[in-house]
Order: sequence, then structure tokens, then C-alpha cells
Amino acid sequence: MKKKIAKQLVKNVSELRRDPVSGDWVVIATGRAKRPNTFAQGHQHDPAYESKENCPFENPQVSGNDKPILVFDHKAREMGKLSQDWFVQVIPNRFPAFAGPSVKRYVKHVGPYTVLEGRGSHEVVIMREHTKNISSFSSLEARAVIYAYMARFNILSLRPNVRYVSIFHNFGKEAGASLYHPHSQIMAIPVVPPDVARSLAGSQRYFQEKSKCVHCEMIAWEKKDNQRIVFENEHFIAICPFVSRAAFEIRIFPKKHESSFKDMGDEEIGKCADALRITLGKLEKALANPDYNFFIHTSPINIESLESHFYPHYHWHIEILPKTAIWAGFELGTGIEISTIKPENAAKFLRKFNVS
Ligand SMILES: [Zn+2]
Ligand SMILES: [Zn+2]
Repeated sequence: MKKKIAKQLVKNVSELRRDPVSGDWVVIATGRAKRPNTFAQGHQHDPAYESKENCPFENPQVSGNDKPILVFDHKAREMGKLSQDWFVQVIPNRFPAFAGPSVKRYVKHVGPYTVLEGRGSHEVVIMREHTKNISSFSSLEARAVIYAYMARFNILSLRPNVRYVSIFHNFGKEAGASLYHPHSQIMAIPVVPPDVARSLAGSQRYFQEKSKCVHCEMIAWEKKDNQRIVFENEHFIAICPFVSRAAFEIRIFPKKHESSFKDMGDEEIGKCADALRITLGKLEKALANPDYNFFIHTSPINIESLESHFYPHYHWHIEILPKTAIWAGFELGTGIEISTIKPENAAKFLRKFNVS
């Protein structure tokens, strides 16, 4: 009896896993393990938030938005001008976080602080239907979204003093989407984001030590280990990362080593669109339509110094984070996130759900 109690006392309740790229530790709290289906809480229905009635994206221009910068129809064909057949349109954000010409860097110093004017741009990629998000798109419809991202990414990258182009999609109130209507955002900003800077430094360190891309190494190991793959096609692979920061986190990597999002060909764009819509579809079915964020991580840009050529060690990818937990005191105070399901079990659960 005594022996049994002693054994229970030393039972592992959690394990810490370290990300070789960011250097961050996460906690996989297996001792608090829940069954995969207990994460399927779906999002909290809020009729006023979800209502189509006052939605400004039903008819963006009638709601006072500028005419679109770019329009695609549902067959992913670029349209010369806006018509009734639009499926995806890109407009300038009416309430931008970054705006104005960026011909030079507007820096000043205030006491011990550095202040940089928020020059850059902030655009919105609006999907046509109020209740149809990327997970329910056809292959061509999803392709229109990736085309829109990439076309804007390539244009904004050429602007002076843009250091990073951030592409992200918030879905649901819990994920911080102010509007329910499906939309993504694209921001061109004058600094390299800290998260990206740390990952660049981490992947460079690995490259210097081993002369290999850490991401390519991780992908090769995931294929061999075969426990955390959610979906794969010819050009892309979706996995629940070994070092997941949240339950059901998913990353989608191009199989071909590329540091920047900018260089995809037509075929790859199609496969990327499929990987994204199918992965989101699995997540939606598995977790009963959860709120989520996804974003693209790619190498920074510095057109003045052609800096984007300086990151051969980086490997662009998409990160999907469903809202399965909130940051509380431990996470905020330590920067260590706790995930309550093993990524191996999350991936196994996601694989069960078929999306065509
Ligand atoms: Zn709407
Ligand atoms: Zn790579």
C-alpha cells in the first residue's frame, strides 16, 4: 500500500517541451488531461453579434467603404472592377492601425523611449457570405483568398520602409473579431514583430550549428514519427506541433523550403488553399465551430537593403490557434503556456473528421 502511494506521488502530471525555433517552453499538462471531445464547446452564440442586419460587409461600398483594391470572383478569377459576382474583395480598413506614406522612417525620442510613427497600411479581405467561412469554401473559392493575400503581400512588400506584412484572420468574438462576417486583415508595418524576430534568430542559430533548416528537420521528423499529422497533400503538411502552445494548435508548412510567402506558383497556391480550408474544416467539425485565429509567419522585408534575401534559414508557414484556453496569471506572468491535451491526441482526433 505504502509503495503504491509513493508511486502516485511521483506520477508525472505534466511535461515541459521546448520549441527549438522560438526557444520557448510550453507545459503539456497530461495530468489534467481531458478527452478530446470536451474541447468541443463551440463558440458562445450571440444573436446581436452574429446578425446580418447591420453588417457593414454585406455591401461594403454602400456601408461607406472605399472601392476595392482587388476583387476576385468565386472561380478565383481576378475581376477588373466590382460587380454583383464578387466573392473576395480587398478594401482599405476604415479604421486603420497603420496608414500614410512611408517614404522615410518617422522616428523620435521621448525620454528613454523611441517613438515611430505608425506609417504603413491596413487592409481588409472580405469574403462574400455572412455565414460561410473558409472551412466551407470550394477549392477555387479558397484559392481566391490565397491569391488575394499573395497579391497584396507582393505589392505592399515593395513599399519603402515596410519591414513586415502581417496577414491574419480572426473568427468569432473570443478570437477578437469585431465583426462576425468572415474577413482577414493585412497590415504593412514599419518594424519586424518580436515573435518573428525571435523565430528568425532561433532558426538562424540552428542553421549555423547544423547547416539545416530547423523547420525542414521538424517536418521530416513529423513524417517519420507519424503521430501529429492532421492533413497533407503534395505540397503542404498540417501538424499539431510537438510543442503546441494551446490545445488543438495547428501549423501548415509548405513542404518545399521557402523563406517567404511571396514565391508560390499556381499549383502550390491551390494546394495551400486546400490545406487551409480542409484543416479549418476538421477543426470546425471536431470542436463544434470554435472561435480561432490564424496568421502567416514569413520572413521580413526590407526593400531598401533587399533584406528578404537574408533569411535562407527561415521557412514560412500558417499557424492556427483555436480559442481553447485563455491566458491567465501563470501564462501572463511567465510566458509559458499550458496545453491540456497532448498534440498527439489532438491530431489523432482531428484526423477522424473527413472534409472533402
Ligand atoms: Zn455580413
Ligand atoms: Zn525549411
